[in-house]
Amino acid sequence: MSAGEWLKDLLFPRRCPVCDRPVLPAGALICEECAKTLHPVGRDTCMCCGKPVAGRQELCADCAKRPHIFTAGTAVYTFRSCSGALYRFKYRGREEYADFFGESMARRLRVWQAEGPGAVRRRPPEALIAVPSSGDRVRRRGYDQSLLLARAMSRRTGIPVLENVLLRTRSTPPMRGMTAAERQKNLKKAFLVHGNSVESKSIMLIDDIYTTGATMDACAEQLRKAGSGPVFFMTLAIGEIPYVEPGQDPDDDASRDL
Ligand SMILES: [Zn+2]
Ligand SMILES: [Zn+2]
Repeated sequence: MSAGEWLKDLLFPRRCPVCDRPVLPAGALICEECAKTLHPVGRDTCMCCGKPVAGRQELCADCAKRPHIFTAGTAVYTFRSCSGALYRFKYRGREEYADFFGESMARRLRVWQAEGPGAVRRRPPEALIAVPSSGDRVRRRGYDQSLLLARAMSRRTGIPVLENVLLRTRSTPPMRGMTAAERQKNLKKAFLVHGNSVESKSIMLIDDIYTTGATMDACAEQLRKAGSGPVFFMTLAIGEIPYVEPGQDPDDDASRDL
């Protein structure tokens, strides 16, 4: 941390992603006690999507049933343990949480590259791409949460972010309650790749949450069509249970990938 950043933290202490109170000491990204309440996904996870699985199963029930277009992915925390933090990050303007989240994701990537599926050990990601939200949602919110995560992760890993390459062509209706087939249809032609900067590159998609993988598959499909190498993903949270908070905008993309 530079002296300037330290001074800024001292004058405007950042808030803890878990309790939302100013973090002490200045410069820390999360309270020591609060950090213990976040649950990392652990070692027993699906080799494809990274969801926690019971025992030593290779694939979760979803991935065993339905193959994915993306190569493989992983997440940092179980959704339940970070749902409040994620909610404030997306809907209450807590952009500052991105620093802590980005650091957690960078740490997770180091472990996953060493212990994860063979594909990521052979071709570690060469570029990060944020899963794009629709333009009006970003305008309403004032920032794009996935892009903030990708940039924060990039600062800590040195892996560049490719911006304005994967684009969202239209808004899609919320997907909560839809079947897998309905989700796929909903996302058809929702994304496109601009230019040829992904060609032959190993790509890692970045998003806040993974649930069914419909969005990741739709993005991976376009990247592969544009000639990319393997498409991995990393999300902050993973889990089956979508959160519904009182007052949540039902049209917002909390339900994008649920
Ligand atoms: Zn705290
Ligand atoms: Zn899976």
